[in-house]
Amino acid sequence: MAIVCSEGIVLKTHALGNTSRIAVIYTRDLGLVKLVAKGARRTPQRFGFALEPLSRARFHFYYKPDRDLHLLSQADTIDPTGSRLADLARLAHAEAAIELVDRLVWGEEPHPELYDLLATALVAITASPEASLPALTIAYQLQAASLLGYRPRLDACAGCGGVLSPERLFSPMRGGLVCASCAHEGGTIQLSADALAGLALLLSRPVLEASQYVELRRTGEILRVVESFLKHHFQRFQGLRSLELLRSLGLEAPELVA
Ligand SMILES: [Zn+2]
Repeated sequence: MAIVCSEGIVLKTHALGNTSRIAVIYTRDLGLVKLVAKGARRTPQRFGFALEPLSRARFHFYYKPDRDLHLLSQADTIDPTGSRLADLARLAHAEAAIELVDRLVWGEEPHPELYDLLATALVAITASPEASLPALTIAYQLQAASLLGYRPRLDACAGCGGVLSPERLFSPMRGGLVCASCAHEGGTIQLSADALAGLALLLSRPVLEASQYVELRRTGEILRVVESFLKHHFQRFQGLRSLELLRSLGLEAPELVA
């Protein structure tokens, strides 16, 4: 049994008995791990903000490759992200970011690029203008899917490679825009010109840049298409509760309902 150390982001925690806590952490070096923090409920100051959902920290733990749970030895907070998020909209977008990793990733398989993308997205959600949050979330979702091997195809028919229909028909099942003939399979969504332009932009630019897109149009339409795409390609993805909450409270950007 070796002590290992990795930077990680807390996805969620559960109580364990009266005194301890289990934290589900997406680590940079070991992928998704579950750590037992003994005494974390009795003496919460021992780990400070390091075990709060959304926090980024360095975790030192006893790692047993054949076990589901590992014992946390020490945690040093790098960024207590959750404690810096004052408003509900930012909190919902940040929670949507960690929820996506929780749904799309499983097991102890490291993916440093995906980890860095999540860390970057959380920093951007904390600091960027509130009007850019939908664009940030969409850019992050598209790029997370791309890193996991599912990048929506927009340059030619995602079904047969042929010439695209001028009607801008997106097939979540095929994973991109399609031609008139492949569109006959059904299940396509017709995109507005603005939504397609936004989708192409957010797919091709770095996530941090999305914080400048405060006037991106049709973000609600793009978000729905991306979620439908994710549902088709990731079995465990059924939409994001954090964003649904935002919608139900009517606190989303006006365009999300357009
Ligand atoms: Zn086709």
